[in-house]
Amino acid sequence: MTFSIHGLAVARGIAIGRAVLVASSRVDVAHYFIEPEQIDPELARLTHAREAVLAELQTLHDNLPKDSPPELAAILEVHLMLVQDAMLEDGVTNWVKDRLYNAEWALTSQLDVVARQFDDMDDPYLRERKGDLEQVVERMLRHLKGVAHVIPQAAVKRSATPRQQDLQLGDDMDVPLVLVAHDLSPADMLQFKQSVFTGFVTDVGGKTSHTAIVARSLDIPAVVGARTASQLVRQDDWIIIDGDAGVVIVNPSPIILAEYGFKQRQAQVERERLSRLRHTPAVTLDGQRVELLANIEMPEDSPAALDVGAVGVGLFRSEFLFMGREGALPDEEEQYQAYKRAVDGMKGLPVTIRTVDIGADKPLDRTAKDETHLNPALGLRAIRWSLADPAMFLTQLRAILRAAAHGQVHLLIPMLAHAREIKQTLVLVDKARKQLDARGLSFGPIKIGAMIEVPAAALSVKMFLRHFDYLSIGTNDLIQYTLAIDRADELVAHLYDPLHPAVLRLLADTIAESRAQGKGVSVCGEMAGDPAMTRLLLGLGLRSFSMHPTQILAVKQEVIRADASRLEAWAQDVLACDEPAEMMGL
Ligand code: PEP
Ligand code: MG
Repeated sequence: MTFSIHGLAVARGIAIGRAVLVASSRVDVAHYFIEPEQIDPELARLTHAREAVLAELQTLHDNLPKDSPPELAAILEVHLMLVQDAMLEDGVTNWVKDRLYNAEWALTSQLDVVARQFDDMDDPYLRERKGDLEQVVERMLRHLKGVAHVIPQAAVKRSATPRQQDLQLGDDMDVPLVLVAHDLSPADMLQFKQSVFTGFVTDVGGKTSHTAIVARSLDIPAVVGARTASQLVRQDDWIIIDGDAGVVIVNPSPIILAEYGFKQRQAQVERERLSRLRHTPAVTLDGQRVELLANIEMPEDSPAALDVGAVGVGLFRSEFLFMGREGALPDEEEQYQAYKRAVDGMKGLPVTIRTVDIGADKPLDRTAKDETHLNPALGLRAIRWSLADPAMFLTQLRAILRAAAHGQVHLLIPMLAHAREIKQTLVLVDKARKQLDARGLSFGPIKIGAMIEVPAAALSVKMFLRHFDYLSIGTNDLIQYTLAIDRADELVAHLYDPLHPAVLRLLADTIAESRAQGKGVSVCGEMAGDPAMTRLLLGLGLRSFSMHPTQILAVKQEVIRADASRLEAWAQDVLACDEPAEMMGL
C-alpha cells in the first residue's frame, strides 16, 4: 500500500531507492558496511560476544543467592534461551553475509525484525518477552564494543543512480539505497558521507540541526523531522524522498514512480544548467562584487568547494575532526596535518578555521545527545568548552597557527558573548604563538574573527569590532537563541523563522556596523545558502556569503541577476514590516 510521510525538507532533489533501516533505539552503535573479506571476522566477533553473554548469564544464574526470588532464576533462564535463539542468530548472520552490515548494525536490525514479531503476538506474556530480548541484545552490544573494529573509511560502493528497470525488480543488489533512521548523530552522518546512500530520512531533527547540515553537504535528498518514519517504513520498502517538498512516499505505485522519475530528470537538467555558472564571476548587475565561500566539515571537502568556484572556505567546522572517535582527542600534529590539508586543498585561497564547537547536538562521541546536562544548547558549548580546557584549546590554536604558515588562514571563534571571553581567547592566541616561538616552530599570520550567533553578541557588535578583524554571522544559532527555538527540535520547527523581524534587525545592524567600520562581515549560517534569501541579504549590504558547496551556484545565479543598489530601499521596507515572509512572497 502506498502512503506518504511528511517532514522537513533539508536537502533538495528526489531520491528513489530501497529503505535501509537503522533501528530506532540503537543510534549509539556504529553503522557501516564491511568489506566482503571481513564477513568471517565479523561473524567471529558475534560468536565471541554471544559466548561471553552466555557465560555471563550462566554464572549469574549459578550464583544466585539462596534467598533471591524465584522469578529471577526464571528470567535468567529466558535470557539464556534468547541468546541461543536460532531466529536471532540466523537473522544476524544473514544481515552480515547478504548486506555486509557490521556486527552491531546486523544485531540491531535483527532485533527490530524480531521485536516486531513479538509486538504482533496475541499472548501478553510472550509480547512482554520483547523487553528481555532487548536486554540480551544490549549485553551483546556491550561485549561487541569491547572488541570493536576500526571503522573502514571506504564503504561498499554501489550504483547511485536509479535505473527504471531497477525499480521493477524484486531483489537486485545493485539498486539505490536510502537510509531511514530515528536519529543520526553528525558523526554517523560523516561516516555515511563515503557510502552508498542516495537519500536520508530521520524521525527527528530541525532544518538547521547538525545532522541536517551534514546531510545537505552530501548533496543528496534528505527529509528530517519525519516523526514516525522509522517505525512505518520496513526494511527494503521502496521509497521516494522528495527533498524539495519534505515528503517521503512509501511503496509508490508505478504512476507515482514515473512522475518522480520525470522530476528527477528535470532536476538533473537544472543542475547541468547551473554548472555552467562555475566560472562566471559573482558580480551583481550594478557591478558589485560578491564573495561566495564554502562551508566544509573535513579537509577532504575542499575539492568540492573548488569545483563550484568557491573563492575560499568561509567556515571549516573543525569539530568534525574531534567527533565520533571514542577515545583521545586529535593531538596537535594530527590537527595541524588536517588544517594543512585543507589549506593546500584550497590552492592559495583563504581558509577560515573555526575553533571547535562541541556540545548541544554535536556530542563528542556518538552516544546520541548530551542528556547529562539540563540544556546543552545553553550549556558548555563551543568557546565555553574550549575556555574550560585551556590546554586542549592551546593545542588547537597552535595547530591552526602552524597551518597558517602554508597559506591564508583566518581564525574564527564561535559563540562568544562576554568581553572576558574575548579577552581570555585573545590572551590564549598570544600564548599559543609564544609557545610555538619557544619550540622554534614556524607559524603564519592570521586574521582573527568572531562569530555573531548569540543575540548578546549582535547587540554589542561595537565591542566585537574593537577586538576582531572581521565578523561572521552564524544565523543558525542566532535564530535559535533569538527566538528561543531549539534548532534540532522538529516539534517547534514551524516557529524557526529566519525572517522574524527581530532576527533581521540583529542581522541588519551587525552588517551595517561592520561595513561602517570598514571591517569584513559574512553570513555562514544556512540562510546564506538559501537562494530565497540572497536578494534580502544583498539589500542589507552583505557582500560575503559562506555556504555548502552544493548551494553556491544557485546563490550565484541570484547574485548575477540582482541589482544590489536597488535592493537597498526594498530591504529596509522588509525590515520595517511585521510579516517579512509575506512581503517577500514566501
Ligand atoms: C551557525 O550557527 O549559523 C553556524 C554556522 O554554526 P553551526 O551551524 O555549526 O552551529
Ligand atoms: Mg553556530
